[in-house]
Amino acid sequence: MVSSYGTKRVVIVGGGLAGSVLAKSLQDVAEVYLIDPKEYFEVAWASLRCMVEPSFAEKTLINHNEYAPNAHIITSPAISISETEVTTANGRVISYDYIVIATGHDDKSAFTKNEQIGHYKANQEKIKSSNSILIVGGGPVGVELAGEISVDFPDKKVSLVHRGPRLLEFVGEKASKKALKWLNKKNVEVVLGESVTNLDSNTNGGVYRTTGGKSIKADCHFLCIGKPVASSWLKETMLRGSLDNKGRLMVDEYMRVKGHRNIFAVGDITDVKEMKQGYLAQMHSGVVAKSIKSLVNGKEKLEAYKGGPQMAIVSLGRREAVAQISSMTMSGCLPGKMKSGDLFVTKTRKSLGVSSK
Ligand SMILES: Cc1cc2nc3c(=O)[nH]c(=O)nc-3n(C[C@H](O)[C@H](O)[C@H](O)COP(=O)(O)OP(=O)(O)OC[C@H]3O[C@@H](n4cnc5c(N)ncnc54)[C@H](O)[C@@H]3O)c2cc1C
Repeated sequence: MVSSYGTKRVVIVGGGLAGSVLAKSLQDVAEVYLIDPKEYFEVAWASLRCMVEPSFAEKTLINHNEYAPNAHIITSPAISISETEVTTANGRVISYDYIVIATGHDDKSAFTKNEQIGHYKANQEKIKSSNSILIVGGGPVGVELAGEISVDFPDKKVSLVHRGPRLLEFVGEKASKKALKWLNKKNVEVVLGESVTNLDSNTNGGVYRTTGGKSIKADCHFLCIGKPVASSWLKETMLRGSLDNKGRLMVDEYMRVKGHRNIFAVGDITDVKEMKQGYLAQMHSGVVAKSIKSLVNGKEKLEAYKGGPQMAIVSLGRREAVAQISSMTMSGCLPGKMKSGDLFVTKTRKSLGVSSK
């Protein structure tokens, strides 16, 4: 298909870490459509800081048209795909020469930046007005939120219940133990191997019960359980056979969905065997951007994804963190210096070519 630009049309579905940089780098070489349910990109992991400091969201939420002014932005979720077109919930049908699926994880964020900031303000109020807080879930979201609250509001009693045997199960045991030790030092009560049975805040009377018979008194709770992979919209489409048993899109070395010449996938939605991290998602996008630039110029030179360093840093409040870099684990201010102050927000804004504010 030749678009009005006299060039090819590239549709990117999902404007998260992976889709946003891709839209930015392709917007001047092809006619780019970026489809996302909301008007803005968000530095995903910075949301926990925004819950204790809502003004931080002024930096972490960036309207799509700010970093990709030459792309067409469609603010509605994609609901279906065929060999030639993608359909959105608001009834748009957009044809494509190349499509890149970057829908990561299900996201229930607000439609506009202001609404999302309002949501953070409401969460901060909820924290401020509670003396005791229960966090349900001990993955990175639960641990980072416990870190933010216990550092910014040291007088609050924080409890964390996790149904798995250890915190941060996506990294090794040493990192889990360091995170647990840090939380204990901050007087966070951590319960492992149990679930909360009465999460309805209207009927629990401020006492939460666990499967192990514990009672935890808390004025409010935050549900921090992992979000599912956002591939349910593909389950009734021609790509249903391309999903693995975890709902991830199976890709080849060029990040193309296996068996498809012009359908690529990047970021957390893919089945690449590596840690699911934003910097790796952006590396996928770099590879796919090169391939698509070559394809739209009539060349068949595809770039292969060779993998990146395996590294995860989980922040523990504003100064400290626990990190796993390859097989090495460390905690404290050194990894904290890498992430916890600015949470890579300046770096991410730079990667999108927007001012660091
Ligand atoms: C607490 C926490 C801390 C983390 N810390 C780090 C860190 O320090 N460094 C790091 O590199 N990584 C970190 N990560 C991982 C990182 O957040 C993810 O790897 C990254 O966000 C993946 O990017 P993505 O673009 O693939 O998906 P996402 O960021 O999930 O973006 C997906 C986008 O697709 C959109 N979407 C969903 N469904 C549809 C649909 N049907 N149609 C259109 N659009 C859709 C969503 O609205 C969203 O904008 C952390 C994760 C967590 C949970």
